[in-house]
Amino acid sequence: MFRTTMRKMSGSLRLRLTALYLACVALLFVGFSLFLYGLLSKTLVARLDETLAAELNTLTSLFQDELDEMKGDVPVAAHEAVTNMRLHAGLVAIFSGGRTLASTTPLTPAEFDAVMAGDSADFLGALPRVGLHGTHVAGHRLAVNGRPCLLLAAESLDSVADALAVVRRALFISLPLILALAGVGGYVLSTRSLAPLASMAAQAKTITGHNLETRLDIGEPAEELAALVVAFNELLSRLDQSFESMRRFVADASHELRTPISVIRGEADVALSKDRSPAEYKQSLAIVLDESRRLSRLVDDLLNLARADAGHVKLQVRDFYLNDLLADCCRTVQALAGARNLTVECRPGADLQFRGDEELLRRLVMNLLDNAIRYTPPGGSVEAALESDGDRVRIRVADTGIGIPDEAAPHIFERFYRADKARSRQDGGFGLGLAIVKWIAESHDGAVELSSRNGAGSAFTVTLPR
Ligand code: ADP
Repeated sequence: MFRTTMRKMSGSLRLRLTALYLACVALLFVGFSLFLYGLLSKTLVARLDETLAAELNTLTSLFQDELDEMKGDVPVAAHEAVTNMRLHAGLVAIFSGGRTLASTTPLTPAEFDAVMAGDSADFLGALPRVGLHGTHVAGHRLAVNGRPCLLLAAESLDSVADALAVVRRALFISLPLILALAGVGGYVLSTRSLAPLASMAAQAKTITGHNLETRLDIGEPAEELAALVVAFNELLSRLDQSFESMRRFVADASHELRTPISVIRGEADVALSKDRSPAEYKQSLAIVLDESRRLSRLVDDLLNLARADAGHVKLQVRDFYLNDLLADCCRTVQALAGARNLTVECRPGADLQFRGDEELLRRLVMNLLDNAIRYTPPGGSVEAALESDGDRVRIRVADTGIGIPDEAAPHIFERFYRADKARSRQDGGFGLGLAIVKWIAESHDGAVELSSRNGAGSAFTVTLPR
């Protein structure tokens, strides 16, 4: 039972805060009470001592007055002086010659012995030890006609103890009361300050993959909670964005996959619907082969992007000459460009050693060159150049083709985006080439940017750190 309660307490922030608050209040209260109690007891005892000293002074002057009046009759003067002490505390007495001359209250033999013992030596110091325990004493020695007299005022500490007992009782009663009040106050306070957290948790529970656009709202939260709400809402925004792009990606991918698959199916259906000549079968198979190639290219691209997203692509980094790579790529596309009546000008520059994934960078250059050739009408030209300035290299692929409209420019690196849908699809594009270029550049800590003039060609520049 106790364990369960403790476990519950250690689990609940509210209870933990209340317990901490209670412990602080209790500590403060006990500390303050002890301080106050000590101070009060010291003050009361000091006041008692002051009173005793004042009484002793009065007794001394009364005794001296009476001695003058009684012409040196010590016992009568002592008796008169003690009798005239109207306002006295516990005990006022005068001793001389080993006996009590006058006393407001009779002394017990033990008290008398204690006084006498003290009289001969350190009288005040001896008292507590020999019987007047719990009593404060003020004494004064006087020589009258050569006879030593001892004047004494004593008061028991009972009155101080009584006063302190009242204070102690008050403190003992108020401690649980204060703790109970502090406990309730602390609990209410922590409940109130943690209420927004409970509301956040309740709202967060209702958020699923279907309503990721929902944001937490807890009115005007305290500064610390506001930071949490903002951070949580930003997290939701990021999740929403990636969910959205995943959804779009899946929808676009299925859409793209559907076209070649339906062409293959349609072609096979038509070919098998009746007997055909070998030439017709050949033609159908050629179409099927073409579409299958397209399909496998698309699947490759999708797989690459999906693996890149999942962070599963490990760069095969090694040293190679980037100028050689550019020259190679230009040679590869030369035939294709020639077939389209385009000129390819390659300016790889001097030897430029680079460290990176050669295959991926080849893919990047090929994608850019492929686009440049596809989107440049016959008679145009494509230019590929490599430049280096200290710690950066720049690969630039420019063409004199159709260019990219201003409104399309911000989107061309998005997956499945095509500025000119009909043309791109007809040329075999899926809208994934530039997304792959961007990913390869970024995976080498670089970037790709477009500088293009509508109708006057496009230029892509990839900047990579060496
Ligand atoms: P695609 O496979 O459709 O070419 P990309 O991602 O490579 O896909 O390119 C996205 C879109 O950007 C293309 O559909 C095309 O509209 C436009 N684009 C890319 N490169 C060029 C270029 N060199 N000239 C004109 N438009 C281009």
